[in-house]
Amino acid sequence: MNFVDLHIDQRLTVVRTVSELRAALEPFRRIGAPRSLAPIDDVGQAIGLVPTMGALHDGHLSLIRRARSQCAVVVVSLFVNPAQFDEQTDLDRYPRQEDRDAELAAEAGASILFVPSPEEVYPAGFATSVEVLGLTDHLEGKVRGAAHFKGVTTVVTKLLNMVRPDVAYFGQKDAQQVAVIKRLVKDLNMPVTIELCPTQREPDGVAMSSRNTHLLPEERARAKALYGALRTAETLASGGEHSAEALVRAAYDTLAQAGVEPEYVALVDPESFQSVALLDRPALLAIAARVGRTRLIDNLTLYPAVSSSPQSPDPREAQAICSA
Ligand code: AMP
Repeated sequence: MNFVDLHIDQRLTVVRTVSELRAALEPFRRIGAPRSLAPIDDVGQAIGLVPTMGALHDGHLSLIRRARSQCAVVVVSLFVNPAQFDEQTDLDRYPRQEDRDAELAAEAGASILFVPSPEEVYPAGFATSVEVLGLTDHLEGKVRGAAHFKGVTTVVTKLLNMVRPDVAYFGQKDAQQVAVIKRLVKDLNMPVTIELCPTQREPDGVAMSSRNTHLLPEERARAKALYGALRTAETLASGGEHSAEALVRAAYDTLAQAGVEPEYVALVDPESFQSVALLDRPALLAIAARVGRTRLIDNLTLYPAVSSSPQSPDPREAQAICSA
């Protein structure tokens, strides 16, 4: 176990093994106390986990800040999980910058940085995997292959067992991943709350991603088309368009105008990830596209147009009421 002294009033403990992690967390474990989210002035002893593959940006940092506002101790994991990569070149060129990540994570409120080696996560003889069926057949699972989500669900199960957090934080940018993890946690009765955090974007709308650093300047300009396509469909939807086909076609057209060929554009149910034909309730418009050699994904929730009838409130208001 080693400590990184930072220029700010925050000390980060860097741990590389599960036994070091458990020792560092021991003082924070609550015995017999109810597990609930608490505001910053009453954070109790809750343990928060933010799983990442590193190369931290403001998207990751928003998760860490949210965790810090709700938990007494925030563990950030940095692990580029080989099991979820479907392309060796993508794994090889994935950006790695541990020292900078340590500084950024500490500034955002992390107290423990867990940086296990592949051998620590997958020791010799490792033979178990965790798989969520059905939900993983669509979109990302279909394009990247079954091994991708199996790699994600296996490593997330392991991280949740290693850290035993009260709350784990995930980003809306990887919407299908969060849906799969929520299913996993529910199906396996895992005692953790999954918190979904909004997608953080660059000023021009591009979703922040560690892979954006691979984009050449010309590709970076074209990458704007993903969010542009989502917004085009959103504008159509708010103007009363209900047909999934028309909304998807409009998004395709925007991508085509920018010379971006998508792997998929789909309007799906946000829980099952099955395609929907009609936007008669909130649905997720999801896009994956390669810009140059870099694969990007993004999504936006579309809402049916607000009806003037008093019987049909704006679904966003209804949702806000439900989650209040
Ligand atoms: P990654 O390091 O790409 O595996 O991402 C780690 C976590 O950060 C995942 O829960 C992602 O969904 C989340 N994340 C990545 N990019 C963003 C973003 N732009 N906004 C919000 N969360 C993000």
